[in-house]
Amino acid sequence: MAKKVALMTRHHATLICQEARDILTQAGFEIVSNDTGRILTFEEQKALIKDVYAIVAGTEKYDREMLLGCDNLKVVTRFGVGTDNFDLNTMKEMGLEVGVIANYNAVAEFALTHILAVLKNLPRYDAAARAGAWSRFDMRELTGKTVGLVGFGRIGKRLAELLSGFGVTILAYDPYMNEQAAAERKVKPVTLDELLAASDIVSLHLPATEQTKHLINEQTIAKMKDGAYLINTSRGALVDESALLAALTSGKLAGAASDVYEKEPITADNPLFAIPNTVFTPHCSALTYETNYNGGIICAQSIVNVLNGGKPLYPLW
Ligand code: NAD
Repeated sequence: MAKKVALMTRHHATLICQEARDILTQAGFEIVSNDTGRILTFEEQKALIKDVYAIVAGTEKYDREMLLGCDNLKVVTRFGVGTDNFDLNTMKEMGLEVGVIANYNAVAEFALTHILAVLKNLPRYDAAARAGAWSRFDMRELTGKTVGLVGFGRIGKRLAELLSGFGVTILAYDPYMNEQAAAERKVKPVTLDELLAASDIVSLHLPATEQTKHLINEQTIAKMKDGAYLINTSRGALVDESALLAALTSGKLAGAASDVYEKEPITADNPLFAIPNTVFTPHCSALTYETNYNGGIICAQSIVNVLNGGKPLYPLW
């Protein structure tokens, strides 16, 4: 019987490109997928992955209860980079190979888009033009500003490269700072407190963990420059949204842009959405055509690598 690969989430049936499917079928895999067009219930997800060899996972949960009993499972590839929906300890215990894809360019470009959009009040100008209004809103220039990157991994590094043409000072805080990568990009490594105190724009590029939950809270916002901007394209759990709301309402922060939220999927009643000097998007930073195309191929190739005794292309361990 052919080994199975499960394409999970409601999107994957359409997102995984034909070339990626060909890589899998030519290696002898049978593809099963969530074709419901919606997020699966726990029981449906469990039934779909129960006897598969590999999973191409989205943001749905893979906790111990979900994973145990999947006796044929050998590899899980995340069609993305965040693995906070994975119980990595159980995956390790089961001896699974776990891989991610490379979407850092898409997210870095989106973070830059958020920075520019919020500095320029772009959503308000767009709404004004569509309403036939000749409105005027505050705008700022990026040139000459100090940008602080919290987290200097793949996305942080790429964003530093993209920012290099804007005449900005770039600071970065990362407990595992790659000094050489920072020097190559003319980025100054600093402590988190130094970064918060000096940055006109603080952009988050670190994982959500127990330690980083609500890293941006009332106390850390108080350490930020008056009139600074906060950009979050990483994970909603990093920011205490009620503290952010208070800071935007009081004018402590001049604006904020976010692609991610404490509660996802979002609902229209999030009070942040009523604040005008903001930019919000529904967790879509990485969803470019290029990332989807390459991501599918990375997942498929990673699974075939494991079948042949190798490792995923971007392994977690
Ligand atoms: P990465 O693993 O390459 O880099 C993360 C960096 O954060 C690492 O260098 C790590 O040392 C650093 N870090 C860990 N703890 C930290 C802390 N307490 N303070 C500061 N830095 C810390 O990951 P990446 O690919 O650059 O992704 C960064 C973030 O972006 C992740 O949270 C990821 O989930 C998120 N992301 C979001 C989207 C989206 O659609 N919005 C897409 C991709 C990635």
